[in-house]
Amino acid sequence: MEESDCHQMGANDGNGKHDWLEKKEPTCTTHPGKKLKYYDEDCKQMLCSACAVVNHSGHKCSTLADTAKKCKDSNSSKIAQVQKQVQELKEAENLTTGVMHSLDQNYQHGVDLINAETNKVQRKNEKKLSLGRLD
Ligand SMILES: [Zn+2]
Ligand SMILES: [Zn+2]
Repeated sequence: MEESDCHQMGANDGNGKHDWLEKKEPTCTTHPGKKLKYYDEDCKQMLCSACAVVNHSGHKCSTLADTAKKCKDSNSSKIAQVQKQVQELKEAENLTTGVMHSLDQNYQHGVDLINAETNKVQRKNEKKLSLGRLD
């Protein structure tokens, strides 16, 4: 009887431990059970309130919420930077398109000139031909 009771209790303990692992929040390794609430920017590590007071007093600590916010802020400034780069690229592209367009126009102008010259020559030749016929 005693044996089976012990066995059951052991099984329950195991389950309980498993549940605790599943839903654990980040807790301090130095102070088990203490939640990590702060980020020490000097030591680049997360601290519980006890750590912050005992081992890291005077260090540059901020709450994890603040740190998360800072990360978000720096991310959005990165996004702004990327957007700026994209804008610059677009402007460069517009410039290139503009140059291409003017090259195109120059080309068209050249073609027009050639056509005009060709027409002149053709007309001259036609005149010569008609003159020739008249002669
Ligand atoms: Zn701690
Ligand atoms: Zn520290």
